[in-house]
Amino acid sequence: MPLRMSTDPSERCFLPADALGALIVAMGADGRQVIGPTPRDGAIMLDALEGPQDLPWGWTDDHAPGRYRLSRGAGGAFSHTVGPDSFKKHLWPARQRLFQSRRTPEGFAVEPPPKPRRLAFLGARACDLAAIRVQDRVLLDSGPQDPHYASRREGLLLVAVQCGQAGATCFCASMDTGPRVTQGYDLALTEVEGGFVVEIGTPAGAALLRDLPVREVDGDAASAPEAAAARATADMAGRALPTEGLRERLLDALEGPHWDKVASRCLGCANCTLVCPTCFCTTVHDVTDLAGDAERVRTWDSCFNLEFSYVHGGPVRATLAARYRQWLTHKLATWWDQFGASGCVGCGRCTTWCPAGIDIVEEALAAAGPGE
Ligand code: SF4
Ligand code: SF4
Repeated sequence: MPLRMSTDPSERCFLPADALGALIVAMGADGRQVIGPTPRDGAIMLDALEGPQDLPWGWTDDHAPGRYRLSRGAGGAFSHTVGPDSFKKHLWPARQRLFQSRRTPEGFAVEPPPKPRRLAFLGARACDLAAIRVQDRVLLDSGPQDPHYASRREGLLLVAVQCGQAGATCFCASMDTGPRVTQGYDLALTEVEGGFVVEIGTPAGAALLRDLPVREVDGDAASAPEAAAARATADMAGRALPTEGLRERLLDALEGPHWDKVASRCLGCANCTLVCPTCFCTTVHDVTDLAGDAERVRTWDSCFNLEFSYVHGGPVRATLAARYRQWLTHKLATWWDQFGASGCVGCGRCTTWCPAGIDIVEEALAAAGPGE
């Protein structure tokens, strides 16, 4: 039966599983590159999708501090949570050429980088959408816009997926960023028997469904998004980072003894900042070849690197304790002063991918105290 496409998320439709390929085609129809989850090198990565065959059908992921393993799961396309990648690497690439200069008979010519392909993301979770909103605040809304981020972000299509389970390091419920997808999506899918319940967030999302064989949702499937969120919330019971008063307590604890304790375990490897979907620090290099051509390149950097705070005479944060304190208190406290929001969306990546198994929730509560 043809459906009238509404953008009221309370109006839902059903997309059969075998039409997922048609959705991916529709997402890429105007030349967009479709990015989504795919199994590679023992992890679920976020890379270009050619079709539904690239999705991690049947894979699920097990998380613990310092531990991540894939295993065969329930059989769906989205039965996992979040891997080491985030969509950050497509909007804010690890290596971005800012410009290139070439020698010419008259001197040199400066060329900007080519315009990037437009993007469509499939499988973004609530925390991923929250992280994109954080990066929007930082890179678009809090001062001069970053033109490279802006050109990737422009016209981005977002097809989200509702989490039906949480990883053991997730704590988005306490950060008020998930698990339910409620904003910032064009479509939101909930995986059910035989297909997906689809919530439509924008006219662009409704347009994606125009030629797809969607039908009305029947029976219990209509409440699948709420049921999935309830299951994922229950999975996070007992793992929470209450944010009430956290900023103030952390700032009161800047000279406390805890930072030396955590520094005795921290390797300073920077993994936590590289996997974090909101960390945005970079450094810039000029690279010149023997012919005299040159490029200016921006690469991800980290506040855990000693050189990152180097100013004349030495680094400002010379100890690991100072660098860990900088990272944690920026994420959870001073980010509020700078950008009016938390820098943490509770995805748990920094904990899963810390080789020392350092858990941001435990460390924040230990440093700040549990509060009232
Ligand atoms: S600080 Fe950790 S939990 Fe928070 S958003 Fe970054 S990676 Fe996720
Ligand atoms: S907290 Fe963990 S991931 Fe981050 S720098 Fe220290 S050892 Fe590496």
